[in-house]
Amino acid sequence: MNIKNFINKISYIFHLLILSKIFKKPYHVHFQLTRRCNFRCLSCCVWKNEADLTSELKLEEIKILAENLRKIGVKSVALTGGEPLLRKDLFEIINIFKKNNFIVRLQTNGCLINEDFIKKIFSIGLDDIYVSLDSLKPDIFTKINGLENENIFYKVVENIKKTSVIAKKYGVGVFLTTVLQPINIEEVENLNKFAQENNCLIGFYGLEMGDETDKNNIRSCDSQLLPDEKQKKSLKETFVKIKQLKKEKKSPIFNSNKLLDDFINYYSSSNLNMRWNCNAGDYYLEVFANGLLGVCNATPEISGFDYKNIKDLYKNKEKEKIFKKYRKKCNGCICTRQLEYLVNDFSDIINKSLQYINKFIISI
Ligand code: SF4
Ligand code: SF4
Repeated sequence: MNIKNFINKISYIFHLLILSKIFKKPYHVHFQLTRRCNFRCLSCCVWKNEADLTSELKLEEIKILAENLRKIGVKSVALTGGEPLLRKDLFEIINIFKKNNFIVRLQTNGCLINEDFIKKIFSIGLDDIYVSLDSLKPDIFTKINGLENENIFYKVVENIKKTSVIAKKYGVGVFLTTVLQPINIEEVENLNKFAQENNCLIGFYGLEMGDETDKNNIRSCDSQLLPDEKQKKSLKETFVKIKQLKKEKKSPIFNSNKLLDDFINYYSSSNLNMRWNCNAGDYYLEVFANGLLGVCNATPEISGFDYKNIKDLYKNKEKEKIFKKYRKKCNGCICTRQLEYLVNDFSDIINKSLQYINKFIISI
C-alpha cells in the first residue's frame, strides 16, 4: 500500500466516525458503470431490463461526476455494475477517481479479470477489489449465476487466486462476497477455508427477497428463490454458524456481528420483514449508469438531479424531505445496513480496520 492511499484511508475513518454523523455528509458512493452483465443471476434484475442496457456515462461525464463528488466531500467510491470489466475504458475510469483522491473499490464477478489489467489498476492505486463467489462447486456456481458453461467457474476461481497473489505485492484488499441461498449453505466452511488459504477476506449475505416486479430495485429477485419455512430455518442456522466461525483466530469473515444478527432475525421472522429506518442519501448515494441519482440502489431515480448538479442536491434546504420521499419507495433491505453500521457503531469500524491492517498491511 502506498503512503498516500494509507493516509487517505485514515482520513476516511475519521470522516466516517466524526464528520458523516455531524454534517450528514455522504461518505460513500456506489457508481454503476454499466447495466450490462455477462452473468444471468436469478437474484438480480440488472440484466433483465433491456431498455437501459446501453445508457452509460462517457469519460468526460465521469470526470465531471468525480469532481462533483469530491466537492460534496465523498471519500470512497465503489465501481459496480452490471459487470464493470465489460467497459473498455475501465482503466481510465479508475484513474479519474484515483486522481481525485478517492478510495476506490472495484466490484466484479471475476470472470473477465486478467493479470496484466490487474497489475495496471493496482499500480495506479486501486484500493480494494470485491469478487462475487457464491459456490465452490461448478454445477451450483453455474446454476446460481445463470450460466451454461462450467468453464466459467474454473476461470473465476483461477482469477481469484492470481489476483490475491498480485494483490499481496501491492497491499490491495481482496474481498470475496457470497450470497447464501438454500443450494449453497452447505459450503460456508469451504468458502471460509478458501478465503483463508488465498489471503482474502469474505462476507456472507442472505438473499434479500426484493419484489420481482420492481424494476428500480437491483435486488429484485425471481420469486422461485423465495425460501420455504424449512429453508428459512436452515438459512438462520447457517448465519448462526457463521457467527461461530467468525470467532476463530484470524477469521477472514468481515461481516459485523450486528449484520449477521440482522440476517438471523430476518430468517426467523414469519414475513421476511426487511424494514428499518435508514439514512440513505445522507450517508451514501447511488449513481446509476445513466448518471441519474438514487438514495440507494433499490429506489427510483431522484427527479431533477443527476451527476451534473449533485452539489445543488446537497445544498438544497429540502434535501431531507427529498431523501425521505425516496426512502419510502422501497421494501427495506438488510445488507445496505453495513454502510450505516460503519458510521454508527464504533466497534464495527475499529474491528474492520484492524482486520484490514492485519490481513493486507502486516502480511505483506
Ligand atoms: S448479480 Fe452481479 S454478476 Fe449476477 S447478473 Fe447481477 S450484476 Fe451480473
Ligand atoms: S431501507 Fe430502502 S431506502 Fe434504505 S437503504 Fe435499504 S433499500 Fe435503500
